[in-house]
Amino acid sequence: MDAFAPTPPDWIESAVHAWEFCCPTCRGAATEALQVWINRRSPVFTDRQGRKWQEFYHCQCGTAWWAWSSDRPPSEFTPAEPTPPESFWRLDDPFPDVYGSD
Ligand SMILES: [Zn+2]
Repeated sequence: MDAFAPTPPDWIESAVHAWEFCCPTCRGAATEALQVWINRRSPVFTDRQGRKWQEFYHCQCGTAWWAWSSDRPPSEFTPAEPTPPESFWRLDDPFPDVYGSD
């Protein structure tokens, strides 16, 4: 399972928006999910946080859920990304690939 695959997996079609960054059914942690898919194709720009994107998780209980990357709490497993300098967002490419080249 490639979290950064360009094609959305089937299981995200039933995903529900989790307002807390955990499974809305069993409150399982994102780090315990069976599958993960990051919607890197559609980042949303925000004034305060630069941009955010949808992160889909397929929980062990069978629930598919998603939340905004900006809502992901920093932890020892998922450290917060450093804030890039303002000039980073003013490149010719409006969506520079933050995950590196394919
Ligand atoms: Zn669950």
